[in-house]
Amino acid sequence: MSFASAIKSELSKQKTSRICCRTAECYGILLFGRSFSLNGISFTTESPDAAHCASQMIAQVSGAIVETKRILRRAEHTAFVVSVEDIEDRRKILNMFGHDGNEIHLLLNHAVLENECCLSAFLRGAFLSCGTGVDPQKEYRLEFVVPHFHLAKSLSAILAEVPELALQPIISRRQGAYVVYLTGGDRISDFLTYLGAVQSSMEVMQAKMLKEVRNNVNRKTNFETANIGKTASAAALQIEAIERFLNLGGWAAIPEELRELAKKRYENPELSLRELGQSLETPLSRSGVNHRLQKLIELSEKLQKH
Ligand SMILES: [Zn+2]
Repeated sequence: MSFASAIKSELSKQKTSRICCRTAECYGILLFGRSFSLNGISFTTESPDAAHCASQMIAQVSGAIVETKRILRRAEHTAFVVSVEDIEDRRKILNMFGHDGNEIHLLLNHAVLENECCLSAFLRGAFLSCGTGVDPQKEYRLEFVVPHFHLAKSLSAILAEVPELALQPIISRRQGAYVVYLTGGDRISDFLTYLGAVQSSMEVMQAKMLKEVRNNVNRKTNFETANIGKTASAAALQIEAIERFLNLGGWAAIPEELRELAKKRYENPELSLRELGQSLETPLSRSGVNHRLQKLIELSEKLQKH
């Protein structure tokens, strides 16, 4: 199931008990559907749950007869068309929401959203009708695809004013439609919770946390790689010093108290100072090893001068 379908399936199962909110949700579904006029009231969805929820809600709120048809869309995708076929039913529904069905520009009737409690129900309906979302593993993006400019503007204004959520919606154009979209993991997660899709909201949060952990691991790995580089260049200097002794007179040329350490270093250029210290018969601390290797380098430099 796609992320968008999962959200819709979750939203479809929300049970709104207040009549005002149910009416507002129904209005959200119808207004952002494919058509909302005397000529036709219908909306198309690929989510069977959204289709079922919408047809039930429209019938319940308006008393109209609602039809649901199954169709095949692009790439063998099944979609559902929910529609009101009787013109008198359509007239009744339009009047109920304060529309006459002959408007040139479909506008939002704010009177339906007068009660504060209804806002989230209305937005839930709108999302069921025209919403979609990108998988949060890929991108944080939630969209409403709206055919009419004025409706897109109203929706964007409503989203911007949702109390306590700074959603910052953006409108863009795509293939003759208007897209009102939200970005940002936190914003999308908050908004989904606000609509009642708690599971989907948690999915976004989890994706975000995982991404943060992954970034931290990468940062740490980069840091460790840099340190390995430092260890390697220090070891190269030490080995160079040891080789000076070896060229002069073999291992015997190295003072006895430094010999074991020099051998270990020569054979294990990849070890850190701490590891090198632990590999000795009588283990040495990191600073002890450092001190001795410095001494070895100094002595080798003196050798060279003589
Ligand atoms: Zn309400």
